[in-house]
Amino acid sequence: MKTEIISIGTELLLGEIVDTNSAYLASQLPLLGLDLHFISTVGDNQQRLINILQQAWQRSDIIFTTGGLGPTQDDITREAIAEFLDEEISTDPQLVKEFERLFKRFKMEMPKSNLKQAGIIPSAQIIANPRGTAPGWWIERDNHTIITMPGPPNEMQLMWTKVIMPRLQQKLGRAIIVSKTLKVFGLSEAKVDELVSSFLASSNPTVGTYAKPDGIHLRITAKSCTTNDAQTLITEKEKDIRAILGDNIWGTDADSLEATVGTLLTSKGLTLASMESSTGGLLANCITNIPGSSKYFKGGIIAYTGKTNTSYGIDEQLISKHGLVSTEVTEAMASAVRHHLHADIGIALTAITGPAEIEGKPIGTICIGIDNGQHTSSFTRNYPGNRPQVKQRAVISALFELRRVLL
Ligand code: ATP
Repeated sequence: MKTEIISIGTELLLGEIVDTNSAYLASQLPLLGLDLHFISTVGDNQQRLINILQQAWQRSDIIFTTGGLGPTQDDITREAIAEFLDEEISTDPQLVKEFERLFKRFKMEMPKSNLKQAGIIPSAQIIANPRGTAPGWWIERDNHTIITMPGPPNEMQLMWTKVIMPRLQQKLGRAIIVSKTLKVFGLSEAKVDELVSSFLASSNPTVGTYAKPDGIHLRITAKSCTTNDAQTLITEKEKDIRAILGDNIWGTDADSLEATVGTLLTSKGLTLASMESSTGGLLANCITNIPGSSKYFKGGIIAYTGKTNTSYGIDEQLISKHGLVSTEVTEAMASAVRHHLHADIGIALTAITGPAEIEGKPIGTICIGIDNGQHTSSFTRNYPGNRPQVKQRAVISALFELRRVLL
């Protein structure tokens, strides 16, 4: 089976966006044992897309397209495929009803242009899009398959994992493939790699390490005839890996640290308050990304200057002796915010985000303080990176240490 990918969108050709959809699909196709022969990029131009489809039809069995399924004039994927296959587009009444229901829910009138997205050709079946109004098409004709997916990566990836991949597995009579991601923090990628090196050579399940903004992800992928068997292979390998990495594994798959911390606080009936400096509220923002966080999060203080800190009772001499970014000051901040906002736990975060080092401490220095009412603890870390990266790492580190304290 030869496959190819066509990415559609003028933004791609102008360099305004990077074609991550192709990269994602390219990483998925080997899991299905499918060979990828070509990746093409084409702008929002119907004739040029038809030309690429003609070439692809001659040299490939399965053609994947992403993008150009929107409601606007320049979204031409459906029209180009219909013209190429010489088929008529008609409106799917079921889809129209669904769109109307969706717009009603958001108390909006459905623009006429959205009807375009309810178009279908005889050889296509609709692939539902739970995250948007652009459904995909699954076309089977003359021993060829064309699979169209929307451009936004989150919509495309959900459609891929939920519908397209399982359906391709079935169509190809291939083994079932199941993956699980273990999320690790507090260890470098090299260290994780070293610790799990004996598993990296394993062929079923395979284990891969990936550096991500929230730490290192370890993906275990198993192949088997049934989902249950694949699951068993994953569970066994996961047990072995957990025995080595311990509580450096903070979550799996779609887990986020802020949600994990929120669940722990809720289950223990504890409340939290935060005080941060250089992260400018990012910690509080992250905590409040979780729906229902008002049940455990009392609030946050952004103390961006030493003076603001002292106005909350942090000892001026402590600041001048140790510097703002110090474990001593973050411990005092954690206690101050706990006291001021009447929370069970206070967490404080300071960091040196650049462009220059401060108080003789290098860029990337992060200090975290936690006061849980019984005792106060603090941690210093250092992560290299630019300003936004250091801020993000600081927040992840703070949440990770808070999780440890809660556990
Ligand atoms: P929509 O209904 O949202 O318009 P669409 O299928 O028409 O979906 P496009 O309009 O082509 O998709 O692209 C929408 C957005 O999706 C782009 O602005 C871009 O942010 C993202 N996107 C599109 N194609 C790619 C790609 N190949 N890689 C990464 N992102 C992409």
